[in-house]
Amino acid sequence: MSATQGYKLSGTALPKDTIGMLDEIAEHFIEHSDVLRTGNNVLLKSDIGTADIRAEGDRLLIDLISPSEESLQLVRTMLAEHLFYFAGDDPFELSWSELPPPTSPSNLYEVTVVSAEDVTPHMRRVKFACADVSPFVRDDMHVRLLIPPKGRPPVWPGIHEDGRLAWPKGDDKIVVRIYTIRAVDVERGELWIDFLQHPAPGVATPGADFARDAEPGQTVALIGPGGSDKPKAARILLVGDESALPAIARIVAEAEPGTDLQAIIEVENEAEQQLLATRAKLDVRWLHRASYPPGATAMLADAAIEAIAPLDGDTFIWVAGEKKDVRAIKSVLKTRQHDRKLKSVAWYWERGVAAPG
Ligand SMILES: Cc1cc2nc3c(=O)[nH]c(=O)nc-3n(C[C@H](O)[C@H](O)[C@H](O)COP(=O)(O)OP(=O)(O)OC[C@H]3O[C@@H](n4cnc5c(N)ncnc54)[C@H](O)[C@@H]3O)c2cc1C
Repeated sequence: MSATQGYKLSGTALPKDTIGMLDEIAEHFIEHSDVLRTGNNVLLKSDIGTADIRAEGDRLLIDLISPSEESLQLVRTMLAEHLFYFAGDDPFELSWSELPPPTSPSNLYEVTVVSAEDVTPHMRRVKFACADVSPFVRDDMHVRLLIPPKGRPPVWPGIHEDGRLAWPKGDDKIVVRIYTIRAVDVERGELWIDFLQHPAPGVATPGADFARDAEPGQTVALIGPGGSDKPKAARILLVGDESALPAIARIVAEAEPGTDLQAIIEVENEAEQQLLATRAKLDVRWLHRASYPPGATAMLADAAIEAIAPLDGDTFIWVAGEKKDVRAIKSVLKTRQHDRKLKSVAWYWERGVAAPG
């Protein structure tokens, strides 16, 4: 796509700190798209379009170009959600040359529970029927699962004028949790999600509870897929706990023959281990939390850091799991200046803190 082709949209943002926000954009999107930073200009390029963002005085001027009207709306919403997130509690305004269509986002899919079964004692697999599974057969593996209140017809989010999603409120409020599409069954038109059952006494766990109680015919929705973190390299190290196990299992299952895969996976005990089918060469080390000495912490992070030390710079390092473990590994990768394009490091949950939504 050249700069003059495609569907276009321009926008203006008024952040408190223009350059600070530009820095955050450049820093954040490096793991999701190609980022070119030149002075007060950031260019983001991905499959669904380009965003050219430049600081002028107290404003950020934004130009979006996408190959289709649909992807243009997705880029707008994605950027709007991130910019408001970066602004945090600071005052922030965002306006566009055209208003978004007054409909739900085009990447929202209503899906129906087909079945639910235990893969291991604490991992519950829910299979969903989806009218069009084709968008899920890509590199992007993650979705936002939208769980509407029981006993009411679901009301799905629309789109605000500023491009952000407009979530239903009050009695129609939806629970939102992020999950990985573990597998896509194209023939049956099904998507599988594996949910860790992590009962926390006295604490609500709506994502896990949905899977525990899921009944055939129940309707939920997915927004996505997104994340684009399926690594591609000749040699890959995968590190994670049960929350990352569905992603690791999918990466391993879809890896090219000849890929050299090493995985370090922390689960509660041997009963939580899964057979990881692959056409690649795979070496898995399972860590069992139940066998750690009393008071032990950061065992996964320590094992990962030890495994990373001898790796050459060409190895892709993929890490997901609890925030503290992930941060410890992230800082080691930063110190060793591991190539940004050869790493994906994301925390999937935080101990003692419920996911937002
Ligand atoms: C990109 C991405 C992909 C993910 N993919 C998956 C997936 O495929 N399968 C999956 O099971 N999870 C996955 N997760 C993690 C999942 O979103 C979180 O675990 C989420 O908090 C679960 O929501 P909940 O309603 O069950 O618990 P919450 O209401 O969010 O949390 C309630 C309590 O449970 C604790 N808690 C949350 N998660 C865990 C956990 N894993 N282990 C122990 N305690 C926990 C919290 O600290 C909190 O105290 C993914 C997260 C991300 C960001």
